[in-house]
Amino acid sequence: MESKHRLAQAIGLIELSKVLSNNLLIITLCKEPAISMTVKAEWEQLVRNLISEGILKTENIIRSMRLVSRELFLPDNMKQSYAIDAPLPIGWGQTASAPHMVSIMNEALQLETGQKVLEVGAGSGWHACTIAEVIAPSDQPKSAWGHVFTTEIIRDLADYARANIEKAGYSERVTIVHHDGSQGYSAEAPFDRILVTAAAPDIPKPLTDQLRPDGGILVIPVGGTYYFQTLYRVTKKGTQLTRENLGGVAFVPLTGKYGQHTN
Ligand code: SAM
Repeated sequence: MESKHRLAQAIGLIELSKVLSNNLLIITLCKEPAISMTVKAEWEQLVRNLISEGILKTENIIRSMRLVSRELFLPDNMKQSYAIDAPLPIGWGQTASAPHMVSIMNEALQLETGQKVLEVGAGSGWHACTIAEVIAPSDQPKSAWGHVFTTEIIRDLADYARANIEKAGYSERVTIVHHDGSQGYSAEAPFDRILVTAAAPDIPKPLTDQLRPDGGILVIPVGGTYYFQTLYRVTKKGTQLTRENLGGVAFVPLTGKYGQHTN
């Protein structure tokens, strides 16, 4: 029991309301807005592995990864694999990204409370909610919250993500739009941060145009369809764009106007 209390303290949450079995903790955050959530030992182990591998580094990113488990966002036949560090199928030929990739992108984005973020490629809605927990934390007043706008080009998948976001309790912090995000989302621009979760042939100009000029950051995989892709961080200062190579990756293709065109 003592070690479970220590684990709960390590998680950094405010109140441990119940300890159930060897592998299930029920945790209640007592500040507004009141939410309850479960943290299973296997998810905690995954988070600890990502920390020890040096992938998860920053306190607010670690906290959000702990609190927003992938389980709720997967179809029933995939739920048992939620804590495996690999992309998992969600239907419509698409995947929920691997936890290490979501962690790498969230760290690269340099997220802070209050930011306005655009995601291109909602998929299951999971990644958007991990970001929402950083820029609009559950234990801070709503007046401090930022917002995530996430676009999804497949209509049925947008509906699936919307239902997941609602179930997870993030619909006040995440807006999902059925839209070709390769063109950005001009209705809500400019954005402090933009992330693209599908591989583009090049950096779409509407995305850099829609970044804030005073240090806006875009994180985007660029390259071929499925192979030879590089993750880039692009920082905007005035009209100047600085591009950093963050390493090789493998993402599903970005489609739409500025996406991959195979024919
Ligand atoms: N972030 C997601 C999650 O947490 O489950 C995983 C995203 S999945 C790797 C990439 C998603 O990008 C797919 O759902 C795909 O349909 C979507 N997509 C591809 N091209 C798009 C576009 N032009 N606009 C919006 N979404 C797009």
